[in-house]
Parts: sequence; structure tokens; C-alpha cells
Amino acid sequence: MAAPVNIIVGSHVWVEHPELAWVDGEVFKISAEEVHVHTTNGQTVFPKDTEAPPGGVDDMTKLSYLHEPGVLHNLAARYELNEIYTYTGNILIAINPFQRLPHLYDTHMMEQYKGAQFGELSPHVFAIADVAYRAMINEGKSNSILVSGESGAGKTETTKMLMRYLAYLGGRSGVEGRTVEQQVLESNPVLEAFGNAKTVRNNNSSRFGKFVELQFDKNGRISGAAVRTYLLERSRVCQISDPERNYHCFYLLCAAPPEVREKFKLGDPKSFHYLNQSNCYALDGVDDTEEYLATRRAMDIVGISEEEQDAIFRVVAAILHLGNIEFAKGEEADSSVIKDEKSRCDAKSLEDALINRVMVTPEEVITRTLDPVAAVGSRDALAKTVYSRLFDWLVDKINSSIGQDPNSRTIIGVLDIYGFESFKLNSFEQFCINFTNEKLQQHFNQHVFKMEQEEYTKEEINWSYIEFVDNQDVLDLIEKKPGGIIALLDEACMFPKSTHETFAQKLYQTFKSNKRFIKPKLSRTSFTISHYAGEVTYLADLFLDKNKDYVVAEHQVLLTASKCPFVSGLFPPLPEESSKSSKFSSIGSRFKLQLQSLMETLNSTEPHYIRCVKPNNALRPAIFENANIIQQLRCGGVLEAIRISCAGYPTRRTFYEFLHRFGVLAPDVLDGNYDDKVACEKILDKMGLKGYQIGKTKVFLRAGQMAELDARRAEV
Ligand code: ATP
Ligand code: MG
Repeated sequence: MAAPVNIIVGSHVWVEHPELAWVDGEVFKISAEEVHVHTTNGQTVFPKDTEAPPGGVDDMTKLSYLHEPGVLHNLAARYELNEIYTYTGNILIAINPFQRLPHLYDTHMMEQYKGAQFGELSPHVFAIADVAYRAMINEGKSNSILVSGESGAGKTETTKMLMRYLAYLGGRSGVEGRTVEQQVLESNPVLEAFGNAKTVRNNNSSRFGKFVELQFDKNGRISGAAVRTYLLERSRVCQISDPERNYHCFYLLCAAPPEVREKFKLGDPKSFHYLNQSNCYALDGVDDTEEYLATRRAMDIVGISEEEQDAIFRVVAAILHLGNIEFAKGEEADSSVIKDEKSRCDAKSLEDALINRVMVTPEEVITRTLDPVAAVGSRDALAKTVYSRLFDWLVDKINSSIGQDPNSRTIIGVLDIYGFESFKLNSFEQFCINFTNEKLQQHFNQHVFKMEQEEYTKEEINWSYIEFVDNQDVLDLIEKKPGGIIALLDEACMFPKSTHETFAQKLYQTFKSNKRFIKPKLSRTSFTISHYAGEVTYLADLFLDKNKDYVVAEHQVLLTASKCPFVSGLFPPLPEESSKSSKFSSIGSRFKLQLQSLMETLNSTEPHYIRCVKPNNALRPAIFENANIIQQLRCGGVLEAIRISCAGYPTRRTFYEFLHRFGVLAPDVLDGNYDDKVACEKILDKMGLKGYQIGKTKVFLRAGQMAELDARRAEV
């Protein structure tokens, strides 16, 4: 066997054995053709292949033979034993078990991981949170944990475990009443009730991105928190397809206790147009009545008052009733009237707002009527606007209620944001989501790859450059100003005569020779971007509409004038100026700015990565689909990361730190005057370590060598 890249003399490996199946041993010589292994049962063998031991290794960088099947084999072997977590150096891979593993997350587990040396215990989300917390306490720096993966991979569950563990570390034990950490934890069910829904990919899919910033005081206690959310899916409020559902809150309100349902005139969810477009109402294992009560309890803890809760649910009910308003042709051409048998709409002002449009031209103000189709569009736009304002209100309320700590200097951020998406039909939403993933991938690349290499170069140590795909060119294509796709889209939105066709033509012209941009043959309105994770074709047809964010003036007037102070509060009157100007607000550009600010925050922190993997599309336990999983590992850069960790030097210490820690191993070296670098070399030499490197200011150790030195130190 030719030596695999990560085998060195001294590596512990498993080799296949005719009788014992597997036997462990140590590599003692590597030649061009062969690896010589001394096995623990006293034999010398020249194995054809070395593999992961049965049950797998808990860190893939320990895999003795590195290739995709080996990685997969290792993960599968562990998954079979419900070992859902595996490290790749510092990255945690989490494979969704699709079954409750309660012992894995109980208090006893949390106690075990608290303060434990990284790598000492089995891989776990708690270990990652613990590292982040210790690093924050010891170095006084902010940290972040980035959780990624496709829909249903387990990001949100992972995020909740992380937050629970951080609340355990940074909480005030024994304090009664509503604590900051309790409020932070209970913000999750509130946001999930209003921002999650059943989709084909996940029964509890988050339809928004989320970054939670936990603020800590100088004693390491949680002293405040802020939640930022990204791009709630608005279309779901009025349009769902079988077998998906609308947002959970609608169903749980319909299942509320009778007095609540009566108050809001609610009944069977089947009677509501916004819910009955799909045949899915109930969820397996979920009791909506219990969910309603749980959501109210969570709102109590977060600090949302009874009156506010009432108003929130009144708005939710109103949206359902609004959706039931139907329109018939009016007497005049292109006009409509409300069919009132079914709807409970009695306010004239609502009717006016739904069926009329006031057009302001330079010459005059015209009131135009809408035909029934346009009136339905108007109704749905109103529902979406109200719902998204309601969601934003909840986020603001959570933030103001938990409170920010202005004196906090360190944070731990936890990011739970949609993974890369590529469907049969992809639209503006997928474009934004994949843009986010390009950004995060770049951050990951920069951190894991560039930083690593820059460090080696700076320290002038031998290092073979590992190629990785840099995606700056895709980001330029999307966000460059001027000239990127978002900029061109904004231009198209501002120019009244543009259509999706002219927009697509403009893209074809501009990016004719761009390597990352492809015009599909036979299409006039779609375009393909060659993303880091593969090609995705987008349909430009609705890009212009979806990029425009504005509230119809009639709706704004209607809602600002609402007799319900909660509703009018959601729609503060617009300043005189902006209501006149026709300048639109661009969702794409706003999102780009939000992402920029997120990246700035992340860049000021020490990042940790968790890659969630969805083992099968049936959402069932114990099914491990190889091809599917390999694709996800590729998208997450996990395979490259394994290569780099194996080939590189995962541990590095400045000479001073090294001598401070390991000087005791050879006290004579530090007698009298000595050169730091030479002293480090002498100690390493004396300990008989091989394969390490000495840079200009730091010692670089291979995986496992630090642990070995620590063990020796413990013996002294
Ligand atoms: P989306 O992008 O759609 O929001 P997600 O990555 O956030 O997806 P989750 O909602 O976290 O996915 O997980 C989907 C489901 O998988 C959960 O509802 C739960 O049933 C199961 N699951 C995920 N992680 C775990 C876990 N650690 N233990 C048990 N079940 C889990
Ligand atoms: Mg989620």
C-alpha cells in the first residue's frame, strides 16, 4: 500500500486481519511501496489497506486512509450505534438521528462536558459550546457557532441544544423567577410558532434565518441577548401546497380552548381558505391544543403581556378571516364587490381598501377599481404585510423584553440559517438563500483554509498548498456594485417599463463571458449560477415582484387608522415625504446589507462550525443514504477540511507559551541564557516527537502531539 497522506511513522492504525478481523498497530516505517506496521499482537504486517476500526473513529482526522468511501464508512458505522456526532478536527458533523435520544442531552451529560478537555469525551454539541465558552472566558474574545445544513438536517434542534448548554454554563443557578437565560430559551418556541411550518422536507421547518447573540458579563454570566432574523417566507401566509402547512400559529389557534375560539370566531381549520389549500391539518405526534398553551406559556416567560398576546392572536385570526373574503364582478367593468355570505367583513373601509386603488399621476388623482382577480391579489398582499409586521413585532418585543447589556464586551453568537437549496423550480427566495450560503462558505473557506495557509506561509514552514475552490467570483456576480445581479435587479425594478424578460436579457448581455453564469438554451427568462455546491437554475419571472417591498398606500392608511392600538402600532404613519415618493425599497439590497452586517459580526468572533447532515429524505431513523450524504459533505466543505487538518498542524503555540507549559519536561534546557526557539527544539527532541515543525515564532504540532506532551507533563 502506498502511504496515505495522513499516515506518518508512529500513526496508530487498524489493519484487516484474517482471523481477528481487525487488529491495531503502529506504523514504524514507510517506504515508497509499503507501510510497515507492528501490530499489538506482536506481528509485523504490510497491509494492503488500513481502515477505520469497527464502530468508527470519533475524529475523521484520525482516519488512517482518507477517501470518500472511508469517510462515509466511518460515519455509517458510528450512526448505526447512534453515535450521531463526529469531529473533523474542530468541525462537528451531526447526523440527524430522527429519533429522540434523551440521555444524550440530559443534565448529567451537561455536567460531564462542563470544562472537559476538548476531544476527551465523545464528540458532542455541548463540547463545541464548551470550547466557545472557555475561549471567551480565557481570552476575553467573542465567539460564534455556525450551524449549517439543508432543510431537515437538524440545525434548529442543534441550536436549541447549544443555547440550553450555554444557559447552563452562564446561568444563575438557584435564582427564582424569570431570568435572562430562561427568556432566551423560551424565545425559541415563540419564534417557532410564528416562523415555522411543515414542509415536504421537514415537519418543523424554519421559514426564516436566525442569529442569536448571547451577551455575557465579566463574570461569564448571560446578561442580555439579541435575536436577528432574516427573510421570513411571506408567500406561505396565503399560499400553500399539499402536503405542506401554513405557519403553526394558525392551527394552534384553531385548536385553542373553546372560549378563545369563540372570541375570535374560529372553527375548523378546514373552513379557512389560507389553510384548506392543502389537505394537511394535523401533525403526527403534535397536539395543537397543547401547542397553543405552550406558546402562551412561552410568551408569558419572554415577557409578552396578556393584552399583547390577545392582540397577537386577534391579528392571527383576522388574517384567517381576511383570507375568506371573496370577490364577485361588480356592476362596472373591471370592478368587484365583496361576496358576503361567507366572510365576516363589515367595515366599509376594509372593502374600499381591498377593491380600489388610488393612482397618483402628475396631473390628477384617480381612483381605479380592481377586478376580482386583482382584488384577491390585494387581499393577499394585505395578509402578507400584516403577518410579516406581526413577526417583526415579535422579534422586537423579544429583544426589548430580554434586554441588551450595554456593558457586555463578549458575545457568543449562534447562527441557524437555511442551507443551500436547489429545486426543480428556483425563484428569488432560493437566490437569496444560496447567496447567504455563498457568503458563509467564503467565511468558512477563509477561516479554515486561507488562515491556515497564511499562517504557515508567515511562519515559513514547509507546507503543500491544498487547492480549494474560492467563490469570490460568484459573490461578485451576485452582489457587486454596480453591475452585479442584485444591482441590475434594482435597476429593473425602478424602471417602469422593465419586465422579467428585459431583466433576463440584461443579465445575458452583461454576464455573457462570466464563468459562473450560464444562459440555459431554449430559455428566455431563466439563468443558471454555478455555485460552490453545484449549478442552480433560477426562473427570473417573479424576481421583479418579489424584490419590491412596499405596502399598498390604501392598506397603510387603513391599518394606521385601526381602532385596535396594537394594529395601528404595527403601521406607524409614514412621514409625509416618503409616502409621496415612488422610490421602492429593495428586498435584495436590504438583505445584502443585513448579510454584510452579519459577516462583520462573525468576523469579529472566533468561529466554530457544526455541519448538520440529513441521512435520508424519508425523515426516518436508521436509514443512511450514501450518495445523498456525500453530496452534503461536499457542499459543506467537510471533505476539504479533513484533508487540510490531516496534512497540517492543528496545534500551534508561541515559543513562550510552549516553554511556559512544557519547560518542566526538560528543566536543564532553561538554565541560564537560552534562545527560545532552540529551547523548544531541544524539548521536542528530548521527547522523541517526529513530524512537528518549528516556525519563526511558533511551534507547530501534529494532531495528537499536544496530548502526548500533556500526558508526559502530568507524569513529571
Ligand atoms: P429547516 O432548515 O427546515 O429549518 P433544520 O435543519 O432546522 O431544518 P430541524 O428542525 O432542526 O431541521 O430538525 C428536523 C427534525 O429532525 C426535528 O424536528 C427532529 O424531529 C429531528 N431532529 C433533528 N435533530 C435531532 C436530534 N439531535 N435528536 C433528535 N431528533 C432530531
Ligand atoms: Mg430550522
